[in-house]
Amino acid sequence: MAAGGKLQAPRGTFDVLPEDGRRRSQLRALSEELFEPAGYGPVDTPIFEATELFARGVGETTDIVQKEMFTFEDQGGRSLTLRPEGTAGVCRAYMEHGMHKQPQPVKLWYWGPFFRHEAPQAGRYRQFNQVGVEAIGSDDPSLDAEVILLLSELLTRAGAQGVRLRLGSLGTPETRREYSDELRDYLRSREAELSDEVRARLDANPLRAFDSDHPGTIAVVKDAPKLLDRLNEEDAAHFAEVRALLDEAGRDYEIDAALVRGLDYYTRTVFEFTSDALGAQSGVGGGGRYDGLISQLGGPHIPGVGWAAGIERILMVSDVEVPGVGPDVYVVRDGGGAVTEFKALGALREAGFTAQMEQAGRSVKGQFKQADRLGAKSVLVVGADTLSVRDMNTGDQREVPDIAEALAALKEVLA
Ligand code: ATP
Ligand code: MG
Repeated sequence: MAAGGKLQAPRGTFDVLPEDGRRRSQLRALSEELFEPAGYGPVDTPIFEATELFARGVGETTDIVQKEMFTFEDQGGRSLTLRPEGTAGVCRAYMEHGMHKQPQPVKLWYWGPFFRHEAPQAGRYRQFNQVGVEAIGSDDPSLDAEVILLLSELLTRAGAQGVRLRLGSLGTPETRREYSDELRDYLRSREAELSDEVRARLDANPLRAFDSDHPGTIAVVKDAPKLLDRLNEEDAAHFAEVRALLDEAGRDYEIDAALVRGLDYYTRTVFEFTSDALGAQSGVGGGGRYDGLISQLGGPHIPGVGWAAGIERILMVSDVEVPGVGPDVYVVRDGGGAVTEFKALGALREAGFTAQMEQAGRSVKGQFKQADRLGAKSVLVVGADTLSVRDMNTGDQREVPDIAEALAALKEVLA
């Protein structure tokens, strides 16, 4: 960078300022209040992991692994990657800490930053934040329904607008393999109409065609055979039960036979929540069942289901509102001396008041103005030999003999 150039946050990143930060804290509190009582414990995994975890977990042929990862070498020449998603890391931690020996299912939730090298636009960043849950160790359909309903409820509590749920099932890897062959044959028969990208990946992963926004590909895919019609009996029954549980809970959804999702690890249930209040990037959160993921990472066959939702996108469509609140007391410094004034501030905070003090050398008049700007409910004026309490609401001010009396007077004012 040129010397003296203006320093800015990197492309596709953003700063969180206090007003935004309060909304995020509020959403995080809503999440915790919802997940903890349902038996989901907090989990935090490293921001960077061995690149191999995502290559094996997310899938070599996915957009995420092929195009979107921030990968670098450490000084020992090991390849590391800033995590693009949360499930692979959580499953690694589950195995590494022998959580399969705990009573199953193990239920976890997380919140934190993720990284994808994408073209930045509204709602799409290179560093963004996700909240997510994982229920690992059982393939009971009630878990699929439970995690879906948790995200549904979180969006409701956040006041998210225009929310829709799309639901599909991918069956087992065997079903998917057979179906992939069938789909590949079909796509080959109309190869000329497909995008270059889809054509290039026809061998490796023909299902990606369903993710394409290329008009020709969309038209071809519309008439393609559907995986949902090829599910084996067991998977069809599993999907039927998930749907029955959602029906029972009164949660609306649309069946989407073309729902593929951008990660390779999904089996059986897949789902996506969108919001009509978002533009092109309408995805608010999504997930599904990943019964093959842990074995793909070198562990035993242990099923799991979960989702991740974009915190920025939830906040874009929701009315989580947290007004900044002014302090209970503002300490005006009128010649009391630094020690006395600072002691008064400490006494106020210890007594449970939210309190701030003048710290920018304003005149007394300027300090009252500042108290007003901050929305302080009261003021404690610390003079050379006097203490007085002012009700900022009524303007009443009276002198008090000592700090104990000041606290009592403030309690009255603030009552
Ligand atoms: P999209 O269709 O928007 O690319 P995705 O299918 O890649 O989403 P997932 O991997 O399922 O998304 O991640 C779950 C959620 O994380 C998304 O629904 C979205 O809300 C959010 N998300 C994903 N990528 C980004 C990004 N680059 N910037 C902001 N939020 C994101
Ligand atoms: Mg994406």
